[in-house]
Amino acid sequence: MNLPSARSAFTGAPLREPVASRSAPADSSLFRHSVAQFATGIVIVSCATAEGGVHGMTVNSFTSVSLAPPTVLVSLKPGTAHRLLSQHGRFGASILQAHQQGFSAHFSGRPDSTLQPEFITRQAQPTLKHCLAWFECEVIQQVDVYDHSLFVAHVVACGNESGAPLMYFGSQYHRAEALA
Ligand code: FAD
Repeated sequence: MNLPSARSAFTGAPLREPVASRSAPADSSLFRHSVAQFATGIVIVSCATAEGGVHGMTVNSFTSVSLAPPTVLVSLKPGTAHRLLSQHGRFGASILQAHQQGFSAHFSGRPDSTLQPEFITRQAQPTLKHCLAWFECEVIQQVDVYDHSLFVAHVVACGNESGAPLMYFGSQYHRAEALA
């Protein structure tokens, strides 16, 4: 069986020799429902555009990878944000507060003309004003894995505000509730 190998766009080297799975892949609908049981926050990935604007994309694949140096990753399917990150190697990431749910739909292909998202550039990359936490990131590695690419990035600046996160679980938005 010929499997596409995951290659590091940084070094061009195979990350690991592909190993043929002994089992058939899990049913994709069952996989979607099962992976939806993993509760996440919501992040807006943002990139400056050549026209002087900002392109935003909603993701829940944002993950912290390493503390030293501070490193994160996002997993993106092909589209505008994927192209901008591939070309420029830099992006902002903004963790949404519970009251910012509207931005999630707005930046996932259902734009709301009544919303006026405001971005601020603290050092070099635009991030959303008044988000729960913001990160300015420089891509160090792009790994293409089947229908998505992992963008691994160093965090060059970050900060946070007090507030409550917007949560995503079971394909629905939730508010976080602290357990006693
Ligand atoms: P656009 O460029 O407008 O693309 C819209 C869609 O068109 C793309 O998503 C893609 O399907 C298709 N498309 C455009 N260009 C190409 C191309 N060259 N080749 C193939 N297809 C193309 N998406 C993720 O990738 N990762 C996530 O972690 C993620 N998390 C999400 C979490 C939530 C809660 C929601 C609501 C959505 C999430 N999405 C995620 C979906 C994503 O936000 C939307 O698909 C968004 O519109 C993609 O932004 P874009 O910049 O690619 O937009």
